[in-house]
Amino acid sequence: MTRGQTIAAYCRGCIADPAAPGTWREQVAVCSAPSCELWKWRPLPAHAPAWLRSRDPADLPAGWARLHQEVAVRGLRAKIAGKAANTPETGPSPTPSAAGNAEVRP
Ligand code: SF4
Repeated sequence: MTRGQTIAAYCRGCIADPAAPGTWREQVAVCSAPSCELWKWRPLPAHAPAWLRSRDPADLPAGWARLHQEVAVRGLRAKIAGKAANTPETGPSPTPSAAGNAEVRP
């Protein structure tokens, strides 16, 4: 098993939930724990936006860490599909809702 395969298997076991929206790779990609030692090496889906591919927490949109996984996966899919209204460099723009959670603007 390669290093990449080992990390992918570990991340998948850590965060993937078959009952939650998104593929395991999408769920890993939106992991909101950049302090994890594996975060910079976690697998990403093909065509992941630049702000994820950089693997630099400073490139994440404001509020990213507070997004519910389902919202983050939806934002990631929209970005990959080119449907997000924001620039490729800034990614989705999470905005706090009245409940204090963050959501991705369509
Ligand atoms: S990077 Fe995220 S998914 Fe991977 S092991 Fe760390 S916390 Fe879990």
